[in-house]
Amino acid sequence: MKKTKFNRINTIFCTVASLSLLAACSSNDETTITESASALEATDLQITDFNAQCSYVDGNWSSTAFLNTTMINTTQTNFIYAQNNKIASVFGQSAVTLKMVHDNSNPSSTYNAISYSNPKKIYFGEAIYVAALNKGQIVPAMILAHEFGHQLQYTYNLPSKPEATARPNELEADGFAGYYMKRPTGYNATWEQAGPGFEFAYAIGDNNTTSPGHHGTPSQRRSAARLGWYLGDYALSASDFDYNFFYYYNNVLTGSYRTTTPERINPKIDAFIKSKMSELQKIKSGEISAEEFTKLQD
Ligand SMILES: [Zn+2]
Repeated sequence: MKKTKFNRINTIFCTVASLSLLAACSSNDETTITESASALEATDLQITDFNAQCSYVDGNWSSTAFLNTTMINTTQTNFIYAQNNKIASVFGQSAVTLKMVHDNSNPSSTYNAISYSNPKKIYFGEAIYVAALNKGQIVPAMILAHEFGHQLQYTYNLPSKPEATARPNELEADGFAGYYMKRPTGYNATWEQAGPGFEFAYAIGDNNTTSPGHHGTPSQRRSAARLGWYLGDYALSASDFDYNFFYYYNNVLTGSYRTTTPERINPKIDAFIKSKMSELQKIKSGEISAEEFTKLQD
């Protein structure tokens, strides 16, 4: 009897697996499969039910959206999964689940990337991936690093300086992306490579400063990425990054910093970042234009 039962479940898993290919949905997910398998022991679950459950992503995506683990093509799949591992390792973490969201009936609805806290996962929309890739191979990696920055926030309960809107969360995620792009153990990019990518990502900034979803203005996002980029010269834990980031972004950059530097700030980092303050202030104020931003020195 036991064997029969085993075979039955095994068959179901195979069915789910082949349906997954069909629906291009790699099991959203284990839960769905587990529930379905146990449900089958009690009743006869119809295959159409699997299909329906399999196609639906969640309320953040259109009803016709579906998931896939292939990111555009084999080259991109290999690239972005390697990046996913690398980004995590730079911050001493394990990679989180990464999937692509497609929507054949409404392709532009996938112009988004979302970082989820529970369970930890990142869903990368096909439309934004393609648009990013058009600006260069580095750009999808940059977006992924930003999303992983949100994962670090979930893990370490960051940002340490919350506000009424998502602004500090978003600016810090931009900073994490800047940091990753610069780190020798990370993307190890030059500014010539990274600058135009940031410009693509941060042109998406908004000016709805009181909206809960406010991401920071484009010039704030540029300055956050550039600050993160400079911090990338130093190996920092996620929490130390957070401390340094907000020390400079919220205090030093606004000119309201104390004359004595807090103990937690490394004097070497302090001297270096302060030497870049005038530039960072000009980026933040918009005095350095988007165009000039992309052409800054390393
Ligand atoms: Zn974000």
